Amino acid sequence: MSHASVTHNVTVMPGDGVGSECVAAVRRIIAAAGVSIAWEECEAGGVVFRKGISSGVPRETIDSIARTRVALKGPLETPVGYGERSANVTLRKLFELYGNIRPTRELPGVQAPFAGRQVDFVVVRENVEDLYAGIEHMQTPGVAQCLKLMSRKGCEKVIRLAFEMARAEGRHRVHCATKSNIMKLTEGLMKRTFEEVAREYPDLQSEHIIIDNCAHQMVRYPEQFDVIVTSNLNGDIISDLAAGLVGGLGLAPSANIGNDVAMFEAVHGSAPTIAGKNIVNPTALLLSAVMMLRHLGEFEAAATIENSVIFTIELGKTLTPDLTDPDHAASTTQFTDKVIEHFGRKSDHWKARHYHALNPPRVSPRSDYVQVKSRSIAGVDIFVESPLDAGALGESVTALLADSPLRLTSISNRGAVVYPSSDARVDCVDHWRCRLMPRGNTREATDAQIAEALARIATKHAWVHIEKLQAFDGVNAWAADAGE
Ligand code: NAP
Repeated sequence: MSHASVTHNVTVMPGDGVGSECVAAVRRIIAAAGVSIAWEECEAGGVVFRKGISSGVPRETIDSIARTRVALKGPLETPVGYGERSANVTLRKLFELYGNIRPTRELPGVQAPFAGRQVDFVVVRENVEDLYAGIEHMQTPGVAQCLKLMSRKGCEKVIRLAFEMARAEGRHRVHCATKSNIMKLTEGLMKRTFEEVAREYPDLQSEHIIIDNCAHQMVRYPEQFDVIVTSNLNGDIISDLAAGLVGGLGLAPSANIGNDVAMFEAVHGSAPTIAGKNIVNPTALLLSAVMMLRHLGEFEAAATIENSVIFTIELGKTLTPDLTDPDHAASTTQFTDKVIEHFGRKSDHWKARHYHALNPPRVSPRSDYVQVKSRSIAGVDIFVESPLDAGALGESVTALLADSPLRLTSISNRGAVVYPSSDARVDCVDHWRCRLMPRGNTREATDAQIAEALARIATKHAWVHIEKLQAFDGVNAWAADAGE
């Protein structure tokens, strides 16, 4: 069934709650399929937080993953009061697992809102950038900010991964879902990168879709989708929506892909209410392990296990309580036994895809991945905390800069221009963006001028944040405000 001579080294983290029961089932099934794996069992999550390790991931686990480069992970809880960070996010960041692949496919026999519609698509979510970088600051006591950082390199890696995955799975169409109509620079970067990269994949259809319409289309005509690539927060939301279409999180597998490491996990959490009762459904982790086996080149064993679990679910006789009448449900162990017993059986209504090895995308590791020929500073945005109203603040800043090379051109409040006076009825807060540009015909500002203007403003007002307005290769690299 597998190249038995090859032994794969894999780090396994049973994790919390139902994790150890799911992992035990998966290990038994993989062993029965004849795949030889040397498991390195490691800790992560709750037990680690309770030892006082605030990342939730101890050094031995990190070393093991760095060595094996493949991990199978149970769910990890983030106990309140032990650590600030999620151990899951720590692992993704530590190994730059930039792409999260979440397949959504209707399983025969599973009651779901779209049963019979042949839903079969994959969400490829950027996994480390965007609002999940977790760079947050209270700018004033009443105004919070989270930086949405997206890079060309980060977008390109996940977009190439989506196209390569489409090819490896024999899929035909890749959608890129963004909010580029509103966030023209961040989400727009993903759209522009997608349109450029798509030219290298003429064998695949490519289409951009606005993320809100994507959500709408997913619950109207989900069968139209094949692969959807999207940014981190968008992907977080639509991949759960996708799982809901075909039977819920309990059946949803996922893979986290990096340049050097891949980590496979169920989408669901530790389900503490059912932990230790031998009733958890291990299918989500099992299908994640099927993805792992393909990653390891064990295509035959992957197909055997996948066909068997789908056959067992469709047969409907040995199901865990989440999928059937709890009074007649099977235990996790009984379900696992049946999956092994059904090796070699296939559903008549479900056909496995033909998978090929994924050609891992390679993007230059240079930190200055995007280079330009020219750059200039066109001005500066100085963010100020002030209890004054827009008119009074505008007059004060204008007076402070009276003989400065920079002048106040506008003030906005949460993106809406409020000075010079506008018709907008803005319910202002004490967080103002003062835009300063060079006087007269001068088109460029200097760092020294900005520092001097900042010092003048600071004599009367509390500045909280500044942003240079830059132009790269002559193109303005900032967004206009509403009303500008
Ligand atoms: P959850 O653990 O996914 O569980 C929610 C409910 O879904 C469970 O109570 C159970 O429902 C059902 N369920 C989930 N997986 C199941 C399975 N395999 N078989 C049968 N039923 C299943 O979500 P949560 O309660 O919000 O989160 C619990 C903990 O997990 C939290 O600490 C959270 O931070 C963590 N978490 C970790 C990950 C991860 O490691 N990737 C992901 C999500 C959440 P019933 O109660 O109806 O039986």
